[in-house]
Amino acid sequence: MVHFVGAGPGAPDLITLRGARLLAEADVVVYAGSLVNPALLAQCRDGCAVYNSAGMTLDEVLAVLLAADAAGQQAVRLHTGDGALYGAIREQMDALSARGVAYDVTPGVSSLFGAAAALGAEFTLPGVSQSLIVTRLPGRTAVPEGEALRELAKHGASMALFLSAGMLEKTQAQLLAGGCDPDTPAALVYRATWPDERIVRCTVGTLARAGEAAGITKTALILVGRFLDAPYEKSKLYDPSFTTGFREGKP
Ligand code: SAH
Repeated sequence: MVHFVGAGPGAPDLITLRGARLLAEADVVVYAGSLVNPALLAQCRDGCAVYNSAGMTLDEVLAVLLAADAAGQQAVRLHTGDGALYGAIREQMDALSARGVAYDVTPGVSSLFGAAAALGAEFTLPGVSQSLIVTRLPGRTAVPEGEALRELAKHGASMALFLSAGMLEKTQAQLLAGGCDPDTPAALVYRATWPDERIVRCTVGTLARAGEAAGITKTALILVGRFLDAPYEKSKLYDPSFTTGFREGKP
C-alpha cells in the first residue's frame, strides 16, 4: 500500500502522529527532497529504502511506489507541508488508481500555518478579514486568468502567496495594480519552523526592496493583508454578553 503523508513545514516534530507512525513503519520512503527536512528521515527504521524525488520524474517515482506495493511493502510518499497544496499528489493518486493500487492520504501542517505561527498572526480577524486567499504568481505553471493576483488583490482579504518569493517585483506590481494600498502590511517568512527561519515585515509598497535587502528569493511565503497589523474586533464567541449553545451571556 502507498501512503501519501504531509511532512509539515520543516520542524521534524510538526509531522502528525499518524504521519510519524507511517514513516516509522515504512519499507520504502520517497521524499520531496527540495523542501522536506531530511531530519524527518531519522524516524525511518533501519533498512528502509529512501529515495529523494528531487532528481526523479513522475514515472520514476511511480516505478518505486509500484514496485514496493507489488512486493507487499508499505511505501510512504512524503510531501512538504500538506500535499493538497502545490503538492502534485493528484497525478500520483490517479496513476495508482489506474493500476488498482490502494493508497491513503495523511494531511500535514502547511507552511502557511507554520508562517502564521512564526508571525503570531491570525488570518481571520473579526472586522478585518474573514477570508484567506491562497495563490501564487504564474511560473512555468500557468495561473487561470480569473485568478490573476491583481484580480484577487481587489478583495482586500488576507493572502498567502506560495512559489512567488523569486518574483517580488512582479508580486508587488500586481498587488498595487489590484488596488492594494502601498501601506498594506506584508511579511516574508523564509523557512518557517526550520532552525534558520527568518521573518521580514514590510508593506506592499516596500515588498521587493525588503526581500532584496534580506536576500530572500525562495522557500518563503509572502503574506499580505491588514490581519498583520490592523486593529480588530474581539470574537463574539468569547464575548461575555454573547449567548451560545454552551454558555448563557450576561448583559
Ligand atoms: N505543500 C506545501 C507547499 C509546496 S509548494 C505546503 O503545504 O506548505 C513550495 C512553496 O511552499 C515554496 O515555494 C514556499 O513558497 C512554500 N514553503 C514551503 N515550505 C516553506 C517553509 N517552511 N517556509 C516558508 N515557505 C515554505
